[in-house]
Amino acid sequence: MLPAGNWHEPDAADIAVAGDTIAGIAAAFAPIADTAIEELDGRGHLILPGFVNAHYHSHDVLAKGTLEEVPLESWRLYALPPQYPPRSVEEVRARTLLGALECLRSGMTTIQDMLTLYPFEDRHLDAVMQAYEQIGIRVVFSLQYADRKGLETIPYWKDIFPKDLHPLLSTAAEPERQLDLLGHFETTCLRAAPRPRVHWALGPSAPERCSPALMARTMELARRYDVPVYSHIYESRGMALQARLTLPEHGGSLIKRLAAEGMLDPLLNLAHSVWLARDEELERDVALKFLPDLMLADPAIKARLANLGSTVLPGSPADYGMLLANETEKWAKVVKFSGAKPD
Ligand SMILES: [Zn+2]
Repeated sequence: MLPAGNWHEPDAADIAVAGDTIAGIAAAFAPIADTAIEELDGRGHLILPGFVNAHYHSHDVLAKGTLEEVPLESWRLYALPPQYPPRSVEEVRARTLLGALECLRSGMTTIQDMLTLYPFEDRHLDAVMQAYEQIGIRVVFSLQYADRKGLETIPYWKDIFPKDLHPLLSTAAEPERQLDLLGHFETTCLRAAPRPRVHWALGPSAPERCSPALMARTMELARRYDVPVYSHIYESRGMALQARLTLPEHGGSLIKRLAAEGMLDPLLNLAHSVWLARDEELERDVALKFLPDLMLADPAIKARLANLGSTVLPGSPADYGMLLANETEKWAKVVKFSGAKPD
């Protein structure tokens, strides 16, 4: 299946492989006399480029299924590394391997791991990198970091919770107590000898968790070493509210803050971007991921979905829940009244 081809009816083709490289693709290759060629019959199968998992945290792998659905801010208080005791090297190794294995079995050959190791220990990072090397997946690897405490970044937490609980309120990444994590990462990773199949990246956890100075340092390193930057933005309404409340000088907008700081760079990737305001225009080169509302506002995408028989109703998960509840109630009455039974 080729990017320029017909995805619905892919062409049948011969693929020549030399060593670990695709040497050519053609309708049919003629056999070469006296040359030992191993032939694999791929008829009836699709051959696809490896998928890329563009946003992933391997620290979550073993926590899958352990929590009911809760709002993001509450979930962080149970699920993320600053909230639980340091893990063993064996556990870090196991979760890295299991997560990578699951990706490989689903067709992903590259992952962007934005990993929180808290408190940071070199032996944990070594275990992760050895695991990736052993399993053979490609990884764009960043440590997740912040220099502002979670408590400072969630609306109303400081006012609502009694002071003695404040040390327990954390988020995806917390400031390291002893270590300049970014400086350490530069020395031990960015400046070190390249590792096979590893591409380094930088992971400021979210703009509100990083001071302007830390973001500026991040972009300076990114440009100097030509590595991408991964961050989270507007994943929950709480994150959007925080921006509206604390950034009056930027019109309540994290995007405008990033623009003013010169951060909207092609190297920057912003995960989630769910609660962008309509006036938060973005430079086209910044990669946004998971954009349901904005994507659905695109007339071309709307038309394509309509062709597939879908009705496009942009809205929040809560709107969707309400729609489901209303529809269920309506159709339950109809079913009851008609006496219809499932076949
Ligand atoms: Zn994330």
